[in-house]
Amino acid sequence: SGRCARAAALLKELEERCATPLGKLRQVADAMMVEMHAGLASEGGSKLKMLISYVDKLPNGDETGLFYALDLGGTNFRVLRVQLGGKEQHVVKKEPKEVSIPPHLMVGGSDELFDFIASALAEFVASEGEDFHIPVGRQRELGFTFSFPVRQTSIASGTLIKWTKGFNIESTVNDTIGTLAGARYYDNDVIVGVILGTGTNAAYVERANAIPKWHGLLPKSGEMVINMEWGNFRSSHLPMTDYDQALDTESLNPGEQIFEKLISGMYLGEILRKVLLRLANEAALFGDSVPPKLETPFILRTPVMSAMHHDNSPDLKVVGTKLKELLGIPNTSLKTRKVVVQACDIIAKRGARLAAAGIVGILKKIGRDSAAKDGGDTPRTVVAIDGGLYEHYNIFSECLRSTVKEMLGEEASASVVIKLANDGSSIGAALLAASHSQYL
Ligand code: ADP
Ligand code: MG
Repeated sequence: SGRCARAAALLKELEERCATPLGKLRQVADAMMVEMHAGLASEGGSKLKMLISYVDKLPNGDETGLFYALDLGGTNFRVLRVQLGGKEQHVVKKEPKEVSIPPHLMVGGSDELFDFIASALAEFVASEGEDFHIPVGRQRELGFTFSFPVRQTSIASGTLIKWTKGFNIESTVNDTIGTLAGARYYDNDVIVGVILGTGTNAAYVERANAIPKWHGLLPKSGEMVINMEWGNFRSSHLPMTDYDQALDTESLNPGEQIFEKLISGMYLGEILRKVLLRLANEAALFGDSVPPKLETPFILRTPVMSAMHHDNSPDLKVVGTKLKELLGIPNTSLKTRKVVVQACDIIAKRGARLAAAGIVGILKKIGRDSAAKDGGDTPRTVVAIDGGLYEHYNIFSECLRSTVKEMLGEEASASVVIKLANDGSSIGAALLAASHSQYL
């Protein structure tokens, strides 16, 4: 029928506009690499902030002793203590505690907020059980995960770039470094950490002498962790559709975080909603009238999209149920449900392939994108990825991994490992306190 043909034509157009053939992905990876160079060359030199983290020693697993972490990010903050037992034992014991921040403190002055945090922390330290031991003469050491953009001035100080009042997004700065540190603690070949959750970011280990904008002393390790803030990457090579333009215009931060708006969990479901709304309007996908709920921004979250995308039942029952329960669309035909799944597929795979291109851009920048030429050993390279999108959206993560392989080729990808960095970031700050301990 005419409706079907119209729906098919709209899907085809979406597919063409979202296409990410290998050649395009290589352009994206190259653009990422170029922006990395620019961001390292001078402050403000690129859309990529390429923030110097002052983390110049990642944990290697040998650390021993008692360390604390404090994680301030949302409406809660978490404190955590870990007893590290070295290579054999790793994390002997850990104890987390969550404290909710009284709402009035989140809009007040930062002095009051920090006073509150300090006393909650003091209380937590006072409750230290017998399994935790602080050697005589030592002070307790604490790592601080501050999930707002910070320009650091040393390992222990920094200036807040922007206090994001809405809390939440952009809140990935040090999570990314925490992911890198947490994964590195168990595997010394980890050199890139990526977050793919509500938002997205990447951090990696750079050679200290490849950071022209840094005029300080070179660290002993010769290395420095760079927090890329890659969510703000943009390039004319990114496949942007009308849906993406509209999403960006209507967002709280138009023109910013363009890469993030194409690949992260905050936005994938919303892009899908926009596509389905157009299909409802122009191809009567859900019948003669447009389902009113479909007009509500962000009603369709990425976990729902993922559940529909993974529906393996012959009649796409999950898709039918979600459309009915969430959007109030009853009795959808199998044809309609198939269109929805195809739209999920196009949007999720574009995101996954672009994220893969970003990772390959980083690997190119640090010379880990090809096998050793002289027949020597190619070093093993591990990329640790954390975040709910990567962890739970299997089609997304599978596509990301296969795309990295496709881009690197068989030989080079044989020494590149992409792995889930589950849980690493939660103890990452304590591990960084350990690797930067004044007692080592
Ligand atoms: P955050 O990024 O907010 O710190 P997480 O790393 O746990 O937190 O990621 C949560 C995000 O992951 C959600 O906002 C959502 O976009 C995505 N997500 C969670 N579960 C799923 C799922 N089952 N399928 C797809 N995406 C998911
Ligand atoms: Mg997170």
